[in-house]
Amino acid sequence: MTIRNVRVICTAPAGARLVIVKVETSEPDLFGLGCATFTQRHLAVVTAIEKHLKPLLVGRDPSCIEDLFHLMMVNGYWRNGPVLNNAISGVDMALWDIKGKLAGMPLYDLLGGKCRSAAQVYVHADGATAAAVCDSVRSFLDQGYRFIRVQQSGYGGAESRVRRPAGSPAGVYYDTRSYTREVLATLDHVRNEIGESVELLHDVHERLPPIEALQFARDLEPFGLYFLEDCFAPEDVDWFERLRTLSSTPLAMGELFNNPNEWKKLIAERLIDFVRVHISQIGGVTAARHLVSFAAQYAIRTAWHGPGDVSPVGHAANLHLDLWAPNFGVQEWCRFPEQVYEVFPGTPVVRDGYMYPNDRPGLGIEIDEKRAAEYPCPNDVIEWTQVRRHDGSPARP
Ligand code: MG
Repeated sequence: MTIRNVRVICTAPAGARLVIVKVETSEPDLFGLGCATFTQRHLAVVTAIEKHLKPLLVGRDPSCIEDLFHLMMVNGYWRNGPVLNNAISGVDMALWDIKGKLAGMPLYDLLGGKCRSAAQVYVHADGATAAAVCDSVRSFLDQGYRFIRVQQSGYGGAESRVRRPAGSPAGVYYDTRSYTREVLATLDHVRNEIGESVELLHDVHERLPPIEALQFARDLEPFGLYFLEDCFAPEDVDWFERLRTLSSTPLAMGELFNNPNEWKKLIAERLIDFVRVHISQIGGVTAARHLVSFAAQYAIRTAWHGPGDVSPVGHAANLHLDLWAPNFGVQEWCRFPEQVYEVFPGTPVVRDGYMYPNDRPGLGIEIDEKRAAEYPCPNDVIEWTQVRRHDGSPARP
């Protein structure tokens, strides 16, 4: 058996540009799917796969996943960047899908079997006011969710209250001081109205100066968060040591990580509680499997990134890892609209706050290529990452 072809399928059924890899083998009808979605730079990933990985892979044995993962990582010599890691992930997940189909086993069985029958998920409540956020939390509770991320006006506080200087360029503006005050007031409101029967989470999205993030983590303690996410930017991770000595708020980190060196110290020194990488961003299931086992030695749990710009194929990979990992914590869930299920039959389903697998072999997900072609990817300039502080200073998204 050899790899016969490596194809890329781009589609945007819910608006976000998704990149899917299909690895075809010399066996009739035996192929695998993988997620290579780097939605903001999707064409760079397509080129990396079609022009660089495909010629490297055609004719090789698809069963040697670890060996091919290593080969793809080092063949370009320079490595661990987001474009190439996503390209490698697309192939890597597809190889695991193929192996599962050959074995007649779902991926979680190949990995070692289930530790749980479903994965608990968290969803996002948001609103312009504390009352609106509280209504959103209640609505999710009524739908059976028990883990709810609370944001106010997205990641930055109400933009209408930002006083920008005349002549400031277009972009997304926010004010860190009003943001932290508003979120604290909203969490206070939600706890007063709903009580302790809900697990609350919050995502800073790397938007605070480190000293403000330290104070924020301390101020959050009375609300008993399940975790506080991306309190610092990856460039500022050295601040976690200081934060750990000052606050017992549980910490989640890592959706922007690419390179194993970014999480080694945080895990080995127990500076975070949840490792939260974007699986395709670190190279796929093989990289994630290594990370799970490393984190488990330090009792650090997983909480994989699961937004709408992880494809359903990527969400399926998340779910298989969740079911297997002994140190699974919680899974982010974006609630795909119906047309996504039509393009990707087998997309994971959530009932009563838990995400369930199907029991098909491999990743258990398909793509209807005709339906996918009905949703071509736009190629416009990305706006939400053009982010500035209230005075116009450039900021991280
Ligand atoms: Mg996040």
